[in-house]
Amino acid sequence: MKARTLQKDKVNIITLGCSKNLVDSEVLSGQLAANEIEVVHENKKLDHNIVVVNTCGFIDKAKEESINTILDQLELKRRGKLDKVYVTGCLSERYRGDLEKEIPEVDAWFGTLELPLILKQFDADYKTELLGERLLSTPKHYAYLKISEGCNRTCAFCAIPLMRGQHISKPIEALVKEAETLVSKGVKEIMLIAQELTYYGLDIYKKRELPKLLDALAAVKGLEWIRLHYAYPSKFPMEILDAMNRHDNICKYLDMPLQHASNNMLKAMRRNITREEMTDLIHAIREKVPSICLRTTLIAGFPGETEDDIEELKEFLKLHRFDRVGIFQYSHEENTSAYDMEDNVPADVKAERAQEVMEVQQEISLEKNMEKVGNIFKVIIDKKEAGRYLGRTEFDSVEVDNEVVIHSDKKLTIGDFVNVKITKAYDYDIEGVVV
Ligand code: SF4
Repeated sequence: MKARTLQKDKVNIITLGCSKNLVDSEVLSGQLAANEIEVVHENKKLDHNIVVVNTCGFIDKAKEESINTILDQLELKRRGKLDKVYVTGCLSERYRGDLEKEIPEVDAWFGTLELPLILKQFDADYKTELLGERLLSTPKHYAYLKISEGCNRTCAFCAIPLMRGQHISKPIEALVKEAETLVSKGVKEIMLIAQELTYYGLDIYKKRELPKLLDALAAVKGLEWIRLHYAYPSKFPMEILDAMNRHDNICKYLDMPLQHASNNMLKAMRRNITREEMTDLIHAIREKVPSICLRTTLIAGFPGETEDDIEELKEFLKLHRFDRVGIFQYSHEENTSAYDMEDNVPADVKAERAQEVMEVQQEISLEKNMEKVGNIFKVIIDKKEAGRYLGRTEFDSVEVDNEVVIHSDKKLTIGDFVNVKITKAYDYDIEGVVV
């Protein structure tokens, strides 16, 4: 095993897919580092000799990217630039049997919950005392906090339960300890993530305990922003919003994927909710938290989707005017219940419909941004690019939402909060000056 290319092993972790995968990579990094194995994340310098590719297996595009990344790393190995290439994550969990045969050059394949086995490859021990400790790959002022693994829902299009298993919540005490550790490392903002956030606690506490978790996290000194991602709409526990109203450091922000708005599609997708119930829920949420920023995610091109279904979806967006919208084109995934349906919406029509939906949202986003001109917002500084600072308000999550372009003669510090008066609005981003 002794490195052919380096005196001492150095591991580069490449993460594909979602923020939940990123947290897994950070946990692996923390464990390797604690075993005195040098580890880096997304290393461009190629001064490492071992690679772990943490793959995504969610939809076609993601699977393709994962395979290409693996093949790129194997090419480096073939050219003697690398000694070992290991693969873990969702694609490996889902297709390991086939992949082992098709790509035998990979040194070892691991599932999504096999961290101790990966460590064994490095003669490293899994250190339980490190629970909640990880090597952050995000800028140090924000981090993701994964509150549970897996999902018990049965959405027809979704392969995630196949790759991540059943829902397992992390205990409140462990999450508070993890949050305290993150804050001690300079984190001011955490994104709460899960496959399905509202299900939190139903397994280990036999009841929904997200509000209780929020109260505990909100009490962590130094935690300025707590943000909620991936809330499921059906039987949405309104107590979450009471907790949001109780604490200034819980962002008035809610990411709630709805996937569609036509009852025909919601039924076929097995979303356990109707358009009318979603309408009532949105009204109730906005009544309880009037300033809330609502983000949602949608799917275009699900089997059987008609032009009328997409028109209904566009009307629903115009009616409810979400603040942030993301859209996926349907991907026909084996072993999901939708796979038994005919994937009868052609790829170009899927793309057209996704485009149409985003054009509706683009107008709404611009109008909402124009309403912000003249107002002052608390903004966290994320980075400096091309002489300007870029940041976010409490209504913008990292990577997926809008940015605030900040002009300042004074030097600003990454990770600091500043007050910004908005002077200009664009389709998605806004611009302003520090006041
Ligand atoms: S709730 Fe989310 S992760 Fe769970 S099955 Fe539905 S889409 Fe998939």
